[in-house]
Amino acid sequence: MLNIVLFGPPGCGKGTQSAILKDKYDLVHISTGDVFRGLDPESELAKLAKSYADKGNLVPDDITIKILQSEVKKYPNARGVIYDGFPRTSAQAEALDVFLKSKGGAVSCMLELEVEENELRTRLKGRAMDSGRPDDADPAVIQNRIDVYNTQTSPVAGFYKTQGKYKSINGIGSIKEVSERLFQNLEEVIA
Ligand code: ADP
Repeated sequence: MLNIVLFGPPGCGKGTQSAILKDKYDLVHISTGDVFRGLDPESELAKLAKSYADKGNLVPDDITIKILQSEVKKYPNARGVIYDGFPRTSAQAEALDVFLKSKGGAVSCMLELEVEENELRTRLKGRAMDSGRPDDADPAVIQNRIDVYNTQTSPVAGFYKTQGKYKSINGIGSIKEVSERLFQNLEEVIA
């Protein structure tokens, strides 16, 4: 089974590109951000996740790892999974390895979409107009998300680099240009 980690800062295009990869390669797309936003808003879990997300902070690892595992288990017959927004900490990366190993699998590759910070701020500001997400609307929260990415999430790339599974992709350009780059990089993984 393919297990593709799509990695990169908030606003880099992970959601957009995941949807394209999902269709092209017949994969399941799991976005932990979408899973948290899709919880019953009255549930304690949803309220807890929202209390972190609205400030641009990460939801604690134990909760996030459990959510991710139960989401993956919903698709036992999937040809593969695209992980979008997970893992975001080293503990999550380690937990994903252990979880996949228990199912006889492994991460196939990590693709990082590289986009510089000014461009991220512009994109997230634009997205706030139609996303309705409180964490897109406030420049201080956007900055916190970028800072959290740089300190807590960015080191996760090293975890996959040491495993020889890391690929960097230029995330600047049209949606089509970026997806073409992703396709090229995935050819050898999927073959
Ligand atoms: P972004 O546009 O910042 O990539 P996401 O939709 O992926 O947004 O995530 C929104 C929020 O959900 C994050 O800021 C965080 O609070 C929470 N979240 C999503 N995935 C994770 C994760 N793997 N670990 C911890 N928190 C997460």
